[in-house]
Amino acid sequence: MEKTKLTGRIVTRDDPGYNDARTNINLSLQRYPRLIVFCQNKHDAVNALKWARENNVPFRIRGGRHSYENFSLLNNGLVIDLSEMNRIKVDHNKQLATIEAGAELGEVYRTLWRYGLTLPAGNIANVGLTGLTLGGGIGYLTRSAGLTCDHLVKLEMITAEGKEEAELITVSRSEHPDLFWASQGGGGGNFGIVTSMTFKAVPISRVSIFSITWGWKDFEEVFNTWQRWAPFTDERLTSSIEFWPEEVNRIEALGQFVGTKTELKELLKPLLKAGKPTSGIVKTVPFIEAAAFFNSPGGNRPQNLKRSGSFIEKPLSNHAISTIKHFLQQAPNQNASVWQQSLGGAAGHIAPDETAFFYRDAIIAQEYLTNWTSPEEKSQNVRWIEGLRTALSKETMGDYVNWPDLAIRNWQKTYYGENFERLREVKTKYDPDNVFRFEQSIPPLRRSIFF
Ligand SMILES: Cc1cc2nc3c(=O)[nH]c(=O)nc-3n(C[C@H](O)[C@H](O)[C@H](O)COP(=O)(O)OP(=O)(O)OC[C@H]3O[C@@H](n4cnc5c(N)ncnc54)[C@H](O)[C@@H]3O)c2cc1C
Repeated sequence: MEKTKLTGRIVTRDDPGYNDARTNINLSLQRYPRLIVFCQNKHDAVNALKWARENNVPFRIRGGRHSYENFSLLNNGLVIDLSEMNRIKVDHNKQLATIEAGAELGEVYRTLWRYGLTLPAGNIANVGLTGLTLGGGIGYLTRSAGLTCDHLVKLEMITAEGKEEAELITVSRSEHPDLFWASQGGGGGNFGIVTSMTFKAVPISRVSIFSITWGWKDFEEVFNTWQRWAPFTDERLTSSIEFWPEEVNRIEALGQFVGTKTELKELLKPLLKAGKPTSGIVKTVPFIEAAAFFNSPGGNRPQNLKRSGSFIEKPLSNHAISTIKHFLQQAPNQNASVWQQSLGGAAGHIAPDETAFFYRDAIIAQEYLTNWTSPEEKSQNVRWIEGLRTALSKETMGDYVNWPDLAIRNWQKTYYGENFERLREVKTKYDPDNVFRFEQSIPPLRRSIFF
């Protein structure tokens, strides 16, 4: 039988563009692949998988390059990169958007906006839509419209399960329903190479947004007020709050309301009564301007970073709030922060076992973040994140699979809760030989975990 050839734009270690081609978001975890193939169409992706299997070369799948732990990169093997496959087709009448797997959120928002449509997805423009959707997808429309994966209608995926080394299949509620279920929150890279996804989009026009800031002295009052308000207020309002170290002296709540400024001002009253706000903005804007408002260009640059997170099911106690405050007083640098986003609303109307995204009862997604410049700062920053996560773990549950953390030992239950066993069954059916694997990939049933 003739051997498969790699097709697409291929970058090797000798090419001048190699460093740019290999660099992902997390600079503190450098990886040096042997080859990167930028697929131009689904046949290139099929060939890449066949080639990797025929030649026994380890590989990873990559889209927007935003995996915290650089799971989409590896040393010596092949990176199958979908980022140059980013065409978007919209059926305006049916409100369906078919999006190739390499599209980034910014391009998706801009294209759908031309049709008065959007998807409830994330905040940073160059995060990959596919990676985000496969793990769930949260953002400032989560409470009004649900998770990104809740809008998935169909996907095309190359699996390793058929007679061929690589087989392109269509996955939906009626075709391969178990794999469809797993694709709604089961995490990227586990089951196959997604080449495109079709979504039911959401009509959108103008929205109201807000920003309110406070100083450090209002820490407890603002923390308590926000966490008892944000997850329980009008479902059309999704908000976040971020706490920075004491010397930064800044707390900021942001949010998006699918309604008028007058209604939003009314809803914000309890929050504005907390402490003494140092600034405040409330305005109504076209949705696409709101998307630009929430996009932080700083978050788009590769950095030395460590991030982790957890979900919260009921408001944190005063003890947990003091713990967060204490950690922020001891933060390794001024970029460290604790960020929370309100959940519930439409995301909570779905049962934990209806999709692979388990944490439907959570009221808040909480993230711990830090980044630094010189390599010797790494261990202090990593310790700070792990110390904070562990110190809060009595009052938190799980972690969002899109915020992976190699330090979490029981990651199977932590990311997937009670859905983990069913995910293993799906893995066993579609990838019994564990072809798709990385440091925290779902293992098939017959084999022990690799690595
Ligand atoms: C700055 C920043 C901001 C973020 N903001 C948000 C946010 O607002 N909301 C939110 O929910 N999450 C957010 N995230 C988390 C984000 O959802 C995950 O990092 C997601 O996995 C990124 O996907 P990617 O394609 O950009 O990354 P990649 O590193 O390319 O891929 C991530 C994972 O998905 C797999 N994968 C990628 N493409 C495919 C494919 N075509 N088929 C199969 N598997 C694939 C990869 O193998 C890897 O395991 C953010 C992350 C960062 C770093």
